[in-house]
Amino acid sequence: MDTKRLFNTVTVILLTFMLVTSCSTVPVTGRKQINLMSDSEVVKMTKAAFEQMKGQMKISQDPRMNDWVLEVSDRISQQVFWDMPLAEWEFIVFDAPGQVNAFAMPGGKVGVMSGLFDIVETQDELASVIAHEIAHVTARHTHERMSQAGILKAGSGISSLGTAIATGGMVHIAPSMSGQLAAWDRAKEVEADRIGMMYMARAGFDPNAAISVMGKMEKIIGAAGSQPYNSTHPTSQERLDVLHAYVDEAMVEYEKAKALAF
Ligand SMILES: [Zn+2]
Repeated sequence: MDTKRLFNTVTVILLTFMLVTSCSTVPVTGRKQINLMSDSEVVKMTKAAFEQMKGQMKISQDPRMNDWVLEVSDRISQQVFWDMPLAEWEFIVFDAPGQVNAFAMPGGKVGVMSGLFDIVETQDELASVIAHEIAHVTARHTHERMSQAGILKAGSGISSLGTAIATGGMVHIAPSMSGQLAAWDRAKEVEADRIGMMYMARAGFDPNAAISVMGKMEKIIGAAGSQPYNSTHPTSQERLDVLHAYVDEAMVEYEKAKALAF
């Protein structure tokens, strides 16, 4: 083998090795993904971002909201234990009236805006939102976004990573955020809906609540005006279709969880 061929062979082996080591598999859907960020790196950055949020935002003392968030998050976090082994769980209700939003971060940090309770009327409905957010984390959507930011803007450093953290875990129902979403977020939303529905069901929450919450969101979006989302964002009707497609599968898990609980 001449030197040039040897060099080419080594290059191919190295590249293959890099791709293999940076691939992981999404829970529930089994999708393969490329992942250039290590868990510990991502957790470290998101932990710092969550601490900053807690310092800057008012924390709600509302007993009902806090009890519900703790109860629901506790049950779902037990279900995702093996998908998030590094998690140090923390659940915070932020006092943010009018903000219909929630997020979860790698490392197990979950934030719920008090405005979410404008549309969430049962623990099952709350569970559907929190499970969707946690699904973004276990599916490593934040890692993917950060890896993507790294590929697209190599060398641009912390600012693009900061944007990745801030938007990676957010619920995307707030119309003001829609403009920032890229094309591949469309698939991420649908994936998080599907995984989240399985998580909530396994934790003993009725998966039909995911459909009722999405229906209410569609009304809000409709009331907000013509077309708040750009064309790359899935409409709530598209997301409703996905939830309907998987609800039977989720009901099986729900019935199993209920049988175990009693
Ligand atoms: Zn989402």
